[in-house]
Amino acid sequence: MLEAGVAELAEALEARRVSARELLDLFLGRIRAVDPALNAFVTVAEERARAEARAADERRAAGRPASPLDGVPVAHKDLFCTRGLRTTCGSRMLADFVSPYDAGVVERLARAGMVLLGKTNMDEFAMGSSNETSFFGPVRNPWDLRRVPGGSSGGSAAAVAARMTPAATGSDTGGSIRQPAAMTGICGLKPTYGTVSRYGMVAFASSLDQGGPMARSARDLALLMNAMAGFDARDSTSLERAPEDYARLLDLDLAGLRIGLPKEYFGAGLDPAVGARVMDAVGWFERQGARLVELSLPNTRLALPAYYVLAPAEASSNLARYDGVRYGYRAKAYTDLADMYRRTRAEGFGAEVKRRILIGTYVLSHGYYDAYYLQAQKVRRLVARDFAEAFARCDLIAGPTTPTTAFALGEKADDPVQMYLGDVYTIPAPLAGLPALSIPCGFDEAGLPVGLQLTGNYFSEARLLGAAHRFQQATDWHRRVPRETPL
Ligand code: GLN
Repeated sequence: MLEAGVAELAEALEARRVSARELLDLFLGRIRAVDPALNAFVTVAEERARAEARAADERRAAGRPASPLDGVPVAHKDLFCTRGLRTTCGSRMLADFVSPYDAGVVERLARAGMVLLGKTNMDEFAMGSSNETSFFGPVRNPWDLRRVPGGSSGGSAAAVAARMTPAATGSDTGGSIRQPAAMTGICGLKPTYGTVSRYGMVAFASSLDQGGPMARSARDLALLMNAMAGFDARDSTSLERAPEDYARLLDLDLAGLRIGLPKEYFGAGLDPAVGARVMDAVGWFERQGARLVELSLPNTRLALPAYYVLAPAEASSNLARYDGVRYGYRAKAYTDLADMYRRTRAEGFGAEVKRRILIGTYVLSHGYYDAYYLQAQKVRRLVARDFAEAFARCDLIAGPTTPTTAFALGEKADDPVQMYLGDVYTIPAPLAGLPALSIPCGFDEAGLPVGLQLTGNYFSEARLLGAAHRFQQATDWHRRVPRETPL
């Protein structure tokens, strides 16, 4: 049962082969056995989960499941607010923060009957690519405990990969769902901006942040999207669209599918083993009748620097609210109000968050605004235009999710620019607001998972998931169990 994904567990619950309570015990036991080595969970919500599992079993017994996912466990990245359960965002600033309400995503998955196992570790305020900036310590990669799981949704990724939960939520601002998915050998989808509610999701860079599902198969991602996505009037950028079935194209016909290969995604800096595994996957699609289209996204090179201006700018504004007055951490000793602000923020935030606030404040300041912030906004537009032109010629774009496989803990921790460079392939999609997913497509020489990234036009999630599902019907990369956490 630990091996089973969301779809199989839903079937087992439906057929009464297992109860929600039995499943919960199984996954809680697995967390107890495996998590001390990984540190993927910040909070395990045992009591709340037991009540939810009991309610799910009662609904099933009465023949009234809340949804096909009723009773299936899930974990939330610790930036989705949960009533009565702390939401830390991986920060000392919010280490004891208990939200008075549930995030839109939390609410929707609870309404679908999913049982909340707990909250997963993450880079502080979702800033990072290695999960090393968390106040609660780094998460370790279940394929090699000396390596990072990626970030910022590293806890969710490690938890899913190590079979501590069949599914988890993540958030993606510049790659935080797809990059850790790639580095831990699981699947993750960043939906079209505005598809999944940001209500109650702690803000990092609001024009980029988007929640999404992480699981072990594309089919599971589709089922999770069916429960997660939808209009939320409490999020001003939420899109009002008719509900859709994200699983409707799982039997996608690959014949004639046009797959774009941007030359910028296969250039210098790409680890040859990663490039080779990605091209193996592309070759498989071609053998199924897909047509490969060579193309160029000329502004790719500028996306990364633009992101590292825009995201910090928005972060500096969003994080101004943590002042020790209304909620969160407050310095113990101070002389006056200004000193209280200063000490609270100096003690409450870690180094990477401070770096972002400083950069963000600088690029927004009078005299530098035009040179940096405005310029970056223009680049953002160019990046979106590159994609618009590309999607006139292809149905989806394939490439690597990350230039390398998982790196060692500490390897880039003192070199922020090296850390940022690893986001080169994941940053363009959120800048344009486009959907993109990562699925495993093989291993490098060290036995570490490689991720294939598929990017699509706005609202093409179902097609992306369909293409990914077809690949997973023919391959078993997504079924491999990490060697440090055998079953
Ligand atoms: N690694 C990127 C950053 O540090 C992306 C983070 C994210 O998507 N939340 O900003």
